[in-house]
Amino acid sequence: MRTMSPPAPQEGTRVLVVEDDDTIGRHLEAGLRGHGYTTVRSRTGTSALAEARARLQDIVLLDLGLPDTDGIDIARTLRAEFPDVLIVILTARSDEIDVIAGLDAGADDYLVKPFTLTVLLARLRAHLRRRPAAPDAQERPISLGDLTVDTSARRCVLDDQEVQLRPKEFELLAALARHAGAAVSRETLMAQVWDENWFGPTKTLDVTLASLRRRLHQAAAGAPRPLRLPEITTLRGHGYRLEKDCEAE
Ligand code: CA
Repeated sequence: MRTMSPPAPQEGTRVLVVEDDDTIGRHLEAGLRGHGYTTVRSRTGTSALAEARARLQDIVLLDLGLPDTDGIDIARTLRAEFPDVLIVILTARSDEIDVIAGLDAGADDYLVKPFTLTVLLARLRAHLRRRPAAPDAQERPISLGDLTVDTSARRCVLDDQEVQLRPKEFELLAALARHAGAAVSRETLMAQVWDENWFGPTKTLDVTLASLRRRLHQAAAGAPRPLRLPEITTLRGHGYRLEKDCEAE
């Protein structure tokens, strides 16, 4: 029955369940979904990293005993790439060395199997209460040359002048700026900007990118002095990269 109370903090919170044991994985997903979480599961470390890169996750439940890689390495990589994600390691290993290694690798918490769903949910609620409601709200503006992308204010500023962008153009720029200097695949951009896993033709991405480039160059051309505007490099067969270094034009 619906009530008028505000939505629970976990409503819509994305959880990536990294667990190769199907029984445990299904049980975790069903339990989390039943409590308002959105879940996706990976059975290997490699696919977990791909999933995390394709779509921002709020929480990662990470089994340490994975078939392809050590969960501790995955925790370290996730922490390096996603400073704000909550990582909870799940271990059947009672040896506290593993728990310590996991926490040192950047995990926020751990649960030793077997654990009950009730305990897991209580731990997650406690973490969510301590965290800001929207991770985006604390994202700092990203500056590259004379260009500043402020994702929380949704503003693109070139040398103190706001550049008017369409919503998808802005989101595309923000997705590239968050990974400035790194290649971002077409699949990642489709997932982050258009919020879908897309395996077909991605013409809409190219059209939006061309229009974004045009607006930035027009804004730079209209400035009273030469500006340092980062280029968006096309990586054939892969995606795009927003350059970190930029020359005055
Ligand atoms: Ca396992």
